Amino acid sequence: MIILLKDKVNEKQVKNLTNWLEGIGFDLHISKGQNQTIIGLIGDTSRVDMDLISSLDIVESVKRIQEPFKSANRKFHEEDSVVDCGGVKIGGGHFQIIAGPCSVETREQIIAVAQSVKASGAGMLRGGAFKPRTSPYAFQGLHEKGLELLSEAKRATGLPIVTEIMEAAHLPLFEDVDVIQVGARNMQNFELLKELGQTRKTILLKRGLANTLEELLMSAEYIMAGGNENVILCERGIRTFETYTRNTLDLSAVPVLRRLTHLPVVVDPSHGTGHAYLVPSMAMAATVAGADGLIIEVHNDPPHALCDGKQSLTPEQFDDLARRIMAVKEYAVR
Ligand code: PEP
Ligand code: MN
Repeated sequence: MIILLKDKVNEKQVKNLTNWLEGIGFDLHISKGQNQTIIGLIGDTSRVDMDLISSLDIVESVKRIQEPFKSANRKFHEEDSVVDCGGVKIGGGHFQIIAGPCSVETREQIIAVAQSVKASGAGMLRGGAFKPRTSPYAFQGLHEKGLELLSEAKRATGLPIVTEIMEAAHLPLFEDVDVIQVGARNMQNFELLKELGQTRKTILLKRGLANTLEELLMSAEYIMAGGNENVILCERGIRTFETYTRNTLDLSAVPVLRRLTHLPVVVDPSHGTGHAYLVPSMAMAATVAGADGLIIEVHNDPPHALCDGKQSLTPEQFDDLARRIMAVKEYAVR
């Protein structure tokens, strides 16, 4: 339920109302826009007397929210959320490219890629240390060592780091990580999401292989329900009957999500297509579709990458793409 307050209300009147609502057991989400204050009520609102609230002097109107996601709902928070990622902002007009290898392999590799993507304009460095692989015999990532190398690359370049977590017990290892990625395979690992909700870390939540946008938003809601509002959503392609591409990149997810939620939305054209040659066109299309950012795999030697070489750009290809993205950004539909 949302309560829209009248234009000219004073702090004391708002406080009286919020104290009362909290007193009867609601968690509140208060959004002070330029023109209007909105109070979002989270909890079982079926027992609230809407007529009573509507009749209060300071209340303009009261509406029930039909969607099951509340904190993530744009009706609760009209303006785009701007999320901090280790000093770099994303959302609300702040566009970021996150770039780097699928997985951290060696010191030389991660430092070289970090330096080159930074020079090309990337705002954050990605790299997996804990890798969810289909085969237990495939490279699983360097684990703690991978996180240490990412920290080293961060010190060397100043780029905030983005890396995937697979279980909550690993959280203490992620202290120096600026953005914790929840991969597609863990989008509905609700216990992990609840634990991340207890932190104040920025979370990059990727859409599951076969999940609807509403399910993605409900997973964001799990994190936000714990009080962590620092969530970025990521469209990374879904399973369809098409086999030519690794996944089917759902670019319409961008305007749909931007309508439904205030959270920043990024697109991953690397996992979304599975082929390096498809990454530039999809990255540019995602930018023009209104995405708040992109996450792109870049490797210094794609044919020898331990993971996802086929979909990785070389630093030169990334440099060319980053330039083209900046050139089309002004045409974004937002
Ligand atoms: C990744 O980003 O390397 C990754 C494994 O992504 P996803 O969870 O989208 O498959
Ligand atoms: Mn990958």
